[in-house]
Amino acid sequence: MSECIFCKIAKGEIPAEMVYENDQVLAFRDLNPQAPVHILVIPRRHIATLNDLDEGDADLMGRLYLAAKRIAADEGIAESGYRTVINCNAGAGQTVFHVHLHLLGGRPMGWPPG
Ligand code: AMP
Repeated sequence: MSECIFCKIAKGEIPAEMVYENDQVLAFRDLNPQAPVHILVIPRRHIATLNDLDEGDADLMGRLYLAAKRIAADEGIAESGYRTVINCNAGAGQTVFHVHLHLLGGRPMGWPPG
């Protein structure tokens, strides 16, 4: 997807503060952080929303969560606690249509989310 901003980050065409990369997944700091730690974990491959996943993406989605776990430890929030969120479609607040997992931590979190 040539117009997708997260595809452009994945290709290095626009800058981001990268915190983790492997062959399938990358993670970078959110431009507009909602917590002291706010990192986006994304697949390199363009998938617009959770609704577009299929059975073949099961391993990839597991890899997003394994990356989040590792980054949470690196950021020092694994023990204090963190939240992972994937918004699906506009009604849930999705604004960038390339699947991304928000990793948020470093402050107390309320529930239910807004
Ligand atoms: P969502 O609302 O779930 O689609 O989340 C999109 C997130 O992407 C928001 O938290 C934005 O602040 C973040 N964002 C948008 N553009 C960039 C960018 N160029 N670099 C880092 N984060 C971005």
